Amino acid sequence: MGDQTYSRRVMRCSDSNRLLRKRDTETLHMWYECLTKERRGSEYLKKFKQISPSCSVALELLTPHTEFCNVRKTRKDLMDLQRTIEKPVVVQGIGLHSGKESHITLRPAPPDHGVVFHHMRHETDIPARPEFVVDSHHATTLGVNGSRIQTVEHLLAAAAGLGIDNLRIDVDGEEVPALDGSAKEFVALFERAGTVSQPSPRQALIITEPIRVGNERRWIQILPGTAFQISYTLDVDHPLVGTQAVSFPVTERAFVSQVAGARTYGFLRDVPSLWKQGLAQGGTLDNAVVVGKRKVLNGNLRFQDEFVRHKVLDLIGDLSLLGRPLVGHVIARNAGHALNYQLVLAIKDALTVTSRAIRSATRARVRERESDPVLQKGLQPLPGAAL
Ligand SMILES: [Zn+2]
Repeated sequence: MGDQTYSRRVMRCSDSNRLLRKRDTETLHMWYECLTKERRGSEYLKKFKQISPSCSVALELLTPHTEFCNVRKTRKDLMDLQRTIEKPVVVQGIGLHSGKESHITLRPAPPDHGVVFHHMRHETDIPARPEFVVDSHHATTLGVNGSRIQTVEHLLAAAAGLGIDNLRIDVDGEEVPALDGSAKEFVALFERAGTVSQPSPRQALIITEPIRVGNERRWIQILPGTAFQISYTLDVDHPLVGTQAVSFPVTERAFVSQVAGARTYGFLRDVPSLWKQGLAQGGTLDNAVVVGKRKVLNGNLRFQDEFVRHKVLDLIGDLSLLGRPLVGHVIARNAGHALNYQLVLAIKDALTVTSRAIRSATRARVRERESDPVLQKGLQPLPGAAL
């Protein structure tokens, strides 16, 4: 199945998902878990057809996606080479939250450098890593020793979506420009800069155990899988949003055509409170979708389900803080930056535990060998051998 057919299926799927009720979307996620854990998708599908016709439509459409990802992601894909950009590029604009003008320059960086912001006024480097997140309220802010760079997620999503591992981002200001509120213009900027492979392999971060954060209403979990996939459900008590659900494999093509263009959004009713908190100072109809009581103030949406797609965009940006391409299926419901960040920390913790477990198992094996008299004998230096 080609990517185009796949995209059409996703579109059809999200259309049908508009019919889903809250209970159905829960069921959908449950099905996903069952499929991944127990490989009993078709059995569950039969059951859900009886429970809910609209849900079963979505499930049928989603089934080939999972299979599609499974067969396409081979070991070779996981051993891709790292990438950076070919030449520096510059962009400027107003920050969504600060309302202040800033200039950024994207520059190539060597292998294993990762994505690192450089706060030009303070001459400080701020790596795009979980330990440098200083705020995840309404946007992701990175900082070190009082230097802060706000709203990094859309730019990070564009870099991750295009498979760029190493990048230096000079920021003359306090916030990444909002541009049109999506990652579309960042994608265009990266395309202008060109990308190149580097002589160093990527190290994929392969999820081996389910990890979950959140509560009953808002949660994210990541399950083992054979590729990076995001399934997202957004439930908002507003007639223009309602329940929206999508599922994407995070490939470059799917990212560019299905996710990158989805703009950030806000509700008109929340604007006074955001302003009071010093947020959304630079928000306009040119960089955010504003949802009024009965209509979207900007006119047309770019996608019928632009809201949930933007949530996927934010999630891709926040997860890129892990610094390695993920192999696992992320399933989220009504999450946000704070919860995305919690998942990043949970994955990081799991990794540390795993590496600790591996290290202690290795140490135990070494000790075992050291005390084995047969092996001990073999380890005795030969007469005259240089050690
Ligand atoms: Zn966003």
